[in-house]
Amino acid sequence: MASTICGWCGDRTHMKMMMDPFSLPRGLWKRTFHRNNPATVTTVWMSVFQCSNEKCMRLSVGSAALDVRSGGVKDAMAEAELQWEPAKISRPDFVDVPPEIASTASEAHACLSIGAARGAIALARAVVEATAKAKGITIQGIVAKINGLRDDGTISALTAEASHQIRKDGNSIAHGDIGDEPVSVDDAQAILDFMDVLLDEVFQRPAKLNRLKQRHDERKQGNGVGATPPPSPGGGPG
Ligand SMILES: [Zn+2]
Repeated sequence: MASTICGWCGDRTHMKMMMDPFSLPRGLWKRTFHRNNPATVTTVWMSVFQCSNEKCMRLSVGSAALDVRSGGVKDAMAEAELQWEPAKISRPDFVDVPPEIASTASEAHACLSIGAARGAIALARAVVEATAKAKGITIQGIVAKINGLRDDGTISALTAEASHQIRKDGNSIAHGDIGDEPVSVDDAQAILDFMDVLLDEVFQRPAKLNRLKQRHDERKQGNGVGATPPPSPGGGPG
């Protein structure tokens, strides 16, 4: 059972194999040598699958490098961790975040979901800077902006520390100072996790708390004013 997040509809669905697996001619694929026996070369198998979501039903291509004879390929593909095309691109919504910042943050996640780690980190850095500006901290330089958010109590000391990490990792990319060290998707994921926490702390949590408070106030008011007063005898002037 090939189960995955469908790149079309975004649901976790069962993918039904629609054609016999096809082995890609070796010259067309970078060869993958078997981990335990470098003499054997795995073959890349591909097939077409249909999404089982009745509102989607679209076709995706699944592929995997497998070390199997053609007889067992169908079963092996059903068990294997397949690579999917199209891949699901994550574009989360950031409610209660100013639209320009929310769309940049969403785009950072979209970058990460296609493995574009540098793009994700560079955008996360831009989100940190824009967040400070949105809070009225226009002082020059991102270091000062993060410290400004901390000093006026918008973010905690811990969040400030995490934001400085985003800044440091984003700096080299933003300034074209790309070192030999590859930026891993895991690093970028950690940075986007920090970014999400920052947006929650600065925009989302206060907005949610304000809504709760407003609802509470309205209910309290409703209990006092909303209760029907007894009709005044004699019917005085309204
Ligand atoms: Zn689907």
